[in-house]
Amino acid sequence: CGIVGVTGRENATEILLNGLKKLEYRGYDSAGIYVSDKNSDGYLVKEQGRIEDLRAAVGPEVQGTTGIGHTRWATHGVPSRANAHPQVSADGRFYLVHNGMIGNFRELKEEYLAGTEFVSETDTEVIVQLIAHFVAEGMATKEAFTHVLSLIDETSSYAFLLMDKTQKDTLFVAKKKSPLLIGVGDGFNVVCSDAMVMLSETHDFIELTDGDVVTVTPSSVEIEDVNGQSVTRHQFHVDDDA
Ligand code: GLU
Repeated sequence: CGIVGVTGRENATEILLNGLKKLEYRGYDSAGIYVSDKNSDGYLVKEQGRIEDLRAAVGPEVQGTTGIGHTRWATHGVPSRANAHPQVSADGRFYLVHNGMIGNFRELKEEYLAGTEFVSETDTEVIVQLIAHFVAEGMATKEAFTHVLSLIDETSSYAFLLMDKTQKDTLFVAKKKSPLLIGVGDGFNVVCSDAMVMLSETHDFIELTDGDVVTVTPSSVEIEDVNGQSVTRHQFHVDDDA
């Protein structure tokens, strides 16, 4: 039910766990993080239950400069560790967190992923497997991401945050009918469902419009609208006493 992301910081794990803790008020049944940097293959930690349980499961080796985190409020599939996010593609390359629900996930699964093995009951896993599927067919990651978004039906809602193991400092972001903001830092950037949870890192935020697809690195935020046009979106400053 909440999303956090960061790229370009030494202590990504701590930033994600603190952010998830502050998102607790939105309600959730499980939580997870994925962090990586140039020197590691990345670390995925997920737990059913409280953020404190997730924190307890995060060992000292779980360090990185880029990462994504999620609190889940189940819509498809029971609360469990397997159904917690991030959801991972079968090839182990793509990591996705998602708030919202995908109305036509069963149809998409049937049409494109007949031979794919699934480890969760979530609508979200279908999306991350689909991205891997189109990349395997030759698309670049952002192209596959955008293509999959175009296959999602009108009844759906999403805030997505995607990582690709082969582009370790990049976050791919999209939203429709679910809140999501980019937080702008000096040499780093964050992503969050609610500005309040990232005020310890930055006070400057970019508001996204439904249909936007965003590529975030430590030094850049590139936004494309639903037609693939480069756009700038409203940036605002949040005061401490807001
Ligand atoms: N539909 C997704 C799931 O059930 C995401 C739910 C959420 O917004 O946390 O896993």
